[in-house]
Amino acid sequence: TRDRDRPYGPPPPAAADDRARAVALHYNARPQATVVTRQDSPIYQLRCFNNWVKAVLFQTYLRRNDRVLDMGCGKGGDLQKYRQADIRELYAFDVADKSIDQATERFQTMRNARFRAQFRAVDCYNTSIEPHLPRDQGFDVVSMQFCMHYAFSSEQQVRQMLANVTARLRPGGFFIGTCPNANTIVRKLRHADGLEFGNSIYTVKFTQKDEYPVYGHEYSFRLVDAVDDCPEYLVHWPSFVKMAREYRLDPIAHQGFHHFYTQHIDRHRDLFVRMKVVTPDSPTLPADQWEAAGLYSIFAFQKTD
Ligand code: SAM
Repeated sequence: TRDRDRPYGPPPPAAADDRARAVALHYNARPQATVVTRQDSPIYQLRCFNNWVKAVLFQTYLRRNDRVLDMGCGKGGDLQKYRQADIRELYAFDVADKSIDQATERFQTMRNARFRAQFRAVDCYNTSIEPHLPRDQGFDVVSMQFCMHYAFSSEQQVRQMLANVTARLRPGGFFIGTCPNANTIVRKLRHADGLEFGNSIYTVKFTQKDEYPVYGHEYSFRLVDAVDDCPEYLVHWPSFVKMAREYRLDPIAHQGFHHFYTQHIDRHRDLFVRMKVVTPDSPTLPADQWEAAGLYSIFAFQKTD
């Protein structure tokens, strides 16, 4: 029977916290890879490349003894990088509670962790993270890796996210991250015959290509062995930079992964090899994985006084 109180027409858009729940379900459902299964992955080198990008980004912006807030930490894939950076303290949040459990366990079993860490399951785009933070403590760096774009379903969520990023970031501190590059994605969409594009390892699917709203511009993303048709949102960069300035964040870097690689590879080639992005058997990134890497950008902002 039809719900008599509901008007005819399409169902109402999902509430913001329903969307956050759907993202949490998606990431909670992904199993934790072991070292062996990771190496068998069809996107092994892409994962290593993404880790190399994050490691170089950390080397650029993190300092010894820093206090770091990670909003969207996932299963704790960056813990070793924080150890390498020799930070003093980490607060790591994610909306997916099972991912937080795994991150906590990973930290507890980590050898030589010279920093303190707190993990919490928190929706960082729909709620204030204030109650989960220690009183009167500032952070030197806020890191958001491969997760900020989930906030762009609405302006309200982006504002909540920015309020959380900046509430405790000290003046001069950095807000750094990685996220899909809307320019690259839209360019590929415009060149596509239909509403989707991709290659053997990824697919990006839109429902229309006539309108480009600043918020809530949804597409579905599939990356083999990583993301199964998860709804994501384009990040309209000029609007984001304008809004970030309202929160006293000055843009200092925004660069596609391909350019980032060109700029940093000479200085960080050893790390590239150590992190197994390339091996004697596979001395370059396979073309499909390289193309998928090109969908992403790094970014950095600095908090003003
Ligand atoms: N940062 C980790 C990394 O680089 O490995 C995880 C990245 S994973 C692609 C995206 C993460 O964003 C997921 O763990 C997801 O649960 C988290 N996320 C999405 N929406 C969130 C929200 N509203 N609050 C906190 N975390 C969120």
